[in-house]
Amino acid sequence: MKTRAELSNYEETSRYADVLAFLDQLDKSSPLVHVETFGRTFEGRNLPLAVIADPPVASPEEARRSGKATVLVFGNIHAGEVDGKEASLEIARRLAGGDLRPLLKKVIVLVAPIYNADSNDHISVTNRTDQNGPIRGVGVRGNAQGLDLNRDFMKIEAPETMALIRLFNEWDPLLTVDLHTTDGSFHGYHLTYSTPLNPSGDETLLDYHREKMMPALTRAMQRDHGFRTYFYGNFASEASLARQSIFAGGRDPGPNQPRIWRTFSPQPRIAFNYVGLRNRLCILSESYSHLDFRRRIEATAAFVEQILRYSAAHSSEIRRLCRQADARMSGNRRERRIGVEYAPQALDKPVPILVGKVVGITNPISRAEMTAMVENAVTPVPMPDYGLFKATRSVPIATAYLVPRQEELRVIAEKLRAHGITVEELAKPVTTKVEAFTIGKVSRAAGRLQGRDRESVQVSGGYEQKEMSFEPGTYVVRTSQPLGRLAAYLLEPESDDGLGTWNFLDSHIGPQKVLPIYKLMSPRVLKDLRPGSRTKIEKAQGQGND
Ligand SMILES: [Zn+2]
Repeated sequence: MKTRAELSNYEETSRYADVLAFLDQLDKSSPLVHVETFGRTFEGRNLPLAVIADPPVASPEEARRSGKATVLVFGNIHAGEVDGKEASLEIARRLAGGDLRPLLKKVIVLVAPIYNADSNDHISVTNRTDQNGPIRGVGVRGNAQGLDLNRDFMKIEAPETMALIRLFNEWDPLLTVDLHTTDGSFHGYHLTYSTPLNPSGDETLLDYHREKMMPALTRAMQRDHGFRTYFYGNFASEASLARQSIFAGGRDPGPNQPRIWRTFSPQPRIAFNYVGLRNRLCILSESYSHLDFRRRIEATAAFVEQILRYSAAHSSEIRRLCRQADARMSGNRRERRIGVEYAPQALDKPVPILVGKVVGITNPISRAEMTAMVENAVTPVPMPDYGLFKATRSVPIATAYLVPRQEELRVIAEKLRAHGITVEELAKPVTTKVEAFTIGKVSRAAGRLQGRDRESVQVSGGYEQKEMSFEPGTYVVRTSQPLGRLAAYLLEPESDDGLGTWNFLDSHIGPQKVLPIYKLMSPRVLKDLRPGSRTKIEKAQGQGND
């Protein structure tokens, strides 16, 4: 059982049909593998998911009953970055009947090798020409709608995103591994990685992830495989921090200027930040695109192997940490805040970052120039490491957000439910004090965003305490639920990546307009709405399944 990459001496990457055939063979040959479909792409392709467990499980309920931690490995969200697809197939094979099988005593592994399945097969040697193979071409980044799937996690516009979030809701993987290939600077690592970067996530979980888990993985990668790894970043100038949007990296000023190492973005529209806001662990893996294709697959497979080894060895610790993060959100009534503006933050001390060397080589098929890493030419250069973000402005999270039941606001409840957030509805009228947000300034960033021309929206303004009456049917979104932090991020009026940002509130946005999302701040009032209380508030049907 071999992948197309293996069969072609790493000149080619697997097509959709190759992936299905490989998984089908794995399913038939091993009782520990169960292959199913977790959704459909825009063009109607089934998205395959291999569920690998010992003893086998066939459903999320069985997985939960096993008491093991579930880990999801997915590849190909950007269909030109194909190493993760090949590596995850190899990992599935090794789990089913090879050296990794003993790990299944402690973990259940879900493998979704080909997430952006439609675009995988748009293979051409003119895509990602600078990448060091596969020399017979790769697919394209966006999905069939032209959406970057890795910017779609808050607005859920693509059917693929809907499918993956449903998978999160049903299987509840405690750790997700999202496999990519870099686009950026000429560094000296075989692979770089990131943990969730949005500081509004659960602090204990974020710290464990970054400070304990990742250093252990870094050591294991060096010790067991000789692979150099570190936190993802790009070279930039210090001046770029002031000039550039925090979401654009800036140019590498070159070796003769002072350089910084700078990570990416805290926005939860991106998978790993999104999963972080759900109180779960998520690792972004970026194999280095100038390492040759075969070595990139090796590095990615080694990284996934070490992640699975760590997860198996620490499975009860990971389960406890995630449960505690959920409980902190569900239970505690003390005031919480959420960031609405962020800035890059440097680590305490400069870090020796490995600067790499590259040379031009010719692709023998296309005759185009590719850029190849000189694998062992690396120079450590100490520089400030802007690997973190801090909130430069934050607002208190509401105890509950109240949204009037109006036809054009129904989409708000639908989106929240699609994320798996519990949305309740008032059964009787309620009059209470709330904070209402009056819009002052509206900033629209026009451009070609996410496959179509649109304007993202950012508002500023002021809050006013008001006594207001709410009709039966008003949507009530409590933040005392495991996904409460995500709910707040989607609903906060000034959120930098909320439903307002993505145009779902456009008809309510304009200077001096009051935003129809009201913040109930007092837990006491909410208590009155609570059961004993079933008379006043009713749970909506079908939550999480829209
Ligand atoms: Zn990518």
